[in-house]
Amino acid sequence: MLKRNRGGALAAFMGALLAMPAAHAEWYRRVEDGIMGTRISMELWADDPQVSARAIDAVLAEMRRVDELMSTYKPTSQLSLVNAEAASRPVVITPELFELLETSLKYSEITEGAFDITYASVGYLYDFRRHVHPTEGAIAKALPAINFRHVLLDREHTSVRFSQPGVRIDLGGIAKGHSVDRAIEILKSFGIAHAVVSAGGDSRVIGDRFGKPWIIGIRNPRAADPNAVITRLPLEDEAISTSGDYERFFDEGGVRYHHIIDPKTGHSASKVLSATIIGPTATRTDGLSKTAFVLGPEECIKLIDRLGDVDAVLVTPDGRVLYSKGLKAPN
Ligand code: ADP
Ligand code: MG
Repeated sequence: MLKRNRGGALAAFMGALLAMPAAHAEWYRRVEDGIMGTRISMELWADDPQVSARAIDAVLAEMRRVDELMSTYKPTSQLSLVNAEAASRPVVITPELFELLETSLKYSEITEGAFDITYASVGYLYDFRRHVHPTEGAIAKALPAINFRHVLLDREHTSVRFSQPGVRIDLGGIAKGHSVDRAIEILKSFGIAHAVVSAGGDSRVIGDRFGKPWIIGIRNPRAADPNAVITRLPLEDEAISTSGDYERFFDEGGVRYHHIIDPKTGHSASKVLSATIIGPTATRTDGLSKTAFVLGPEECIKLIDRLGDVDAVLVTPDGRVLYSKGLKAPN
């Protein structure tokens, strides 16, 4: 188990016992596949099964709503409309989508362009399920359209425009984090004080679990057993995102083609095998969990240490595990 250098979680972890919150309270769990192309799971503590059922239903409805708005797999989504038309005219979008685009551009600035939603200008040429990758010629032709500066936001009209043709955006690297944050807000509005919500690699917890932190395992990126972990992290009132080159991939001619794309090259970014970020919100941890793949582990750790409110656990291709300064390696 990893230890945290900054207070809170560790202290609570040491004090194991908890007074039970209410006489008939218990844990409720739900797992749902298919929303946002991933698995949604949640576990929460409630003293009324009806409140729990209503809260869980509200969370799933919210995730479906975000998916309808932001999926590029749905031709009717607002994001699909943006991709179809923003090169020829400003497209007015909902404040929620506008803000997530603004946040995405902020993460491009923070990560020196490692996170870039216009990766999709080349990214759409890959199909990891069908083992399709673009030729070098096709990448070279589409590559100039990758640049977050091509996305022009107009706050006054809540609209977005692309500066040139060929630009496509995709929120697969941040929308799940956003939806997990929305889920946590909803659970809090139902008075839930202890919960965990996950959407694929993005999770966030409220409170603790029986007086102890939530324990989240970080998967061993090269173990055949998906339950094999390299370490476990104690979390309370925090979010965690893991990105891995083993999530959506295929191997061909000794090359691993996977879903995290280096915006500079249009190729899969392979400087780490997995990256886990811990921080205050899932939007933030999701937005930062692609960085190490593109910038490399050392640059990423420097950035994470500089940001101060986040931590990282990185697994390198030569099998090293690197930690940011807020974490202590297990001894
Ligand atoms: P998950 O979907 O499990 O949350 P990640 O958080 O690792 O996985 O996000 C991976 C997704 O991010 C990819 O499937 C793609 O949609 C998107 N993506 C890929 N490369 C980039 C990049 N350089 N910048 C921003 N988003 C990216
Ligand atoms: Mg994610």
